[in-house]
Amino acid sequence: MTNLEKLPVTIIDLLSNTIILRQTAPYIPVKELHRLAATSKSLRDIIHNQSEAWHYLNLTPVKRAIIDSTPIDVGGFAWRAERMDESLTEDDFYAGPLRGIFGNLHSKRILQYVQTLVLDGLSVPADLVREIVAEDRYRVKVLSLRQPTHLNMSKLQQVLRYVCRPTRAEGTPILKALYVFGPKDAPRSFTTALEAPPNVRELGVMSSSGAQIGAEWNQRSSNSLASNLLDEESKWYGSTGRAIKRPLSSWPETLAVCKGLINFDAVLCRGPRHDITKVDSKDFLQPTIANVALGSSGCETCGSCPEGPAIFGQSPDSAMPLLGPVPSHSSSLRATIRPEQRPDGSFPKLILRCEDCLRGRWCEQCNRWWCEDCYQEPVSRAHHTRTEMQQLELRDELQRNGWASVERGVASTPVKVFSKLCVEHCLVGEMMAGAGSNGMWG
Ligand SMILES: [Zn+2]
Ligand SMILES: [Zn+2]
Ligand SMILES: [Zn+2]
Repeated sequence: MTNLEKLPVTIIDLLSNTIILRQTAPYIPVKELHRLAATSKSLRDIIHNQSEAWHYLNLTPVKRAIIDSTPIDVGGFAWRAERMDESLTEDDFYAGPLRGIFGNLHSKRILQYVQTLVLDGLSVPADLVREIVAEDRYRVKVLSLRQPTHLNMSKLQQVLRYVCRPTRAEGTPILKALYVFGPKDAPRSFTTALEAPPNVRELGVMSSSGAQIGAEWNQRSSNSLASNLLDEESKWYGSTGRAIKRPLSSWPETLAVCKGLINFDAVLCRGPRHDITKVDSKDFLQPTIANVALGSSGCETCGSCPEGPAIFGQSPDSAMPLLGPVPSHSSSLRATIRPEQRPDGSFPKLILRCEDCLRGRWCEQCNRWWCEDCYQEPVSRAHHTRTEMQQLELRDELQRNGWASVERGVASTPVKVFSKLCVEHCLVGEMMAGAGSNGMWG
C-alpha cells in the first residue's frame, strides 16, 4: 500500500464524488448544507455548483418556510404587518416565505437543480404551485404537497388541468409526479421501531395461544398497531380495504386530464364499467378514484380481475399510485411508483377498485370480492338489493331457513354479498354471534 492510499479521506474527497454527494445531500438539512458551503471554497464550489447536492430538496423542516399563524406569535405579527400592504393578495402573503426561499435559490443558480421538491405541511397557495409547475426557472419533476395549508384544491386542479391542456408546449409539463392526497411522511423517529415490534410479538403470542379474555381489545389494538406500521406500499398492494377514506369526488376529472402526464398518489379505477367500449351505457360509471385495495389474490372465483392486475414495469405508469416516502435519491417517475421486488424477482400484483364498482360484490369485513365476469348480482334483486323491504325479507328468510336457502335464492344465482358482508363467511358469522342476543338483527 502506498502512502497516498493511507491518507485519511476528507469530506471534500467524499463530496467530490458525485455519487456520494447525490446519496448524502438529501440527509443534510438545507441550512447545514449552506453552512457547510460557507466553511471552505472547495466545499462551496462542490455544493453550489453540483446539481447532485440539490436534486432533492425537502423544505418541510425549514423554519423560515413555516408561517406561524398563532395570535401570540409576536414575530409573526411584525412579519405580517411589514408585508401587508394593499397591493398584496392573500395568496401572495401566504406564498411569501417559500417564494423568498425560491428567489434566493434562484439567485444562487441552485433552483434549476431541484428535481424533487417536498413542501409537505407548508403554506403553498395555488399560485405558487402554478409558478413551480409552469415557470422556466423551476425544473421540478416530483412535487409533494401533502397536508398543505392555504392551498385551494379547486385552484390547484385548475392549474394542473392548464399545464396538461392539449395545446401545451411540447416537452411540458416537466412535473411527472404529484403527491397530494396521502399523509406526509412520518418523521424518521425511533418510536415505532422501539415500541411496535414487542407489542406485535406480544399480541401474536396472545392470539396464537387462543386467549379469549380481552380478545376484542387485542383485536382493536392489533389493528391500530397494524395501521401504524402500514407503509404506503402495503396500503395499496395489501388487502387493505378502504385505502383512502376521505372522499375525493372532485378529483377524478383532473386525474383523467393529467393521465399519462402527471401521476398522483392515487389512481383512477380501471374497472370494466368505467370503459364505455365494454359496457352498456346504463351500466357505465363516470371516472372515479380507486380507493379500495383488494390485495393481489383477486376475485374469489377466478383469482384475477377482468381489467387485469396492474404490475410495475408491465402496466401503464398511470395505473400505479405514487408510493411514499418520496424517494430521495432519484427523481424519476419509476422510483416513485416502484414497489419492492418479491424474493423471486417479480413485482406484486395491484388490484384497486372504486366502491361504485364493488357494490354488491365486495365484503367490507373480510375484503373478499367477486368480479364482473364471475358473478352477476341476481337480476331480480339487483335493482332492489339495497331497499329496506328487501333487507327485511332477506333477514326473515335467513332467520327462518339459514343462508343455504338464501343462496338457492330468489333467482338461480346464489347471493354472494348481502348488506356489505359476504354471505358464506361473514354474514353467517354475524348471525351466529347475534343469535340469542338479537345481535345485528335486533
Ligand atoms: Zn372473477
Ligand atoms: Zn370503479
Ligand atoms: Zn366476508
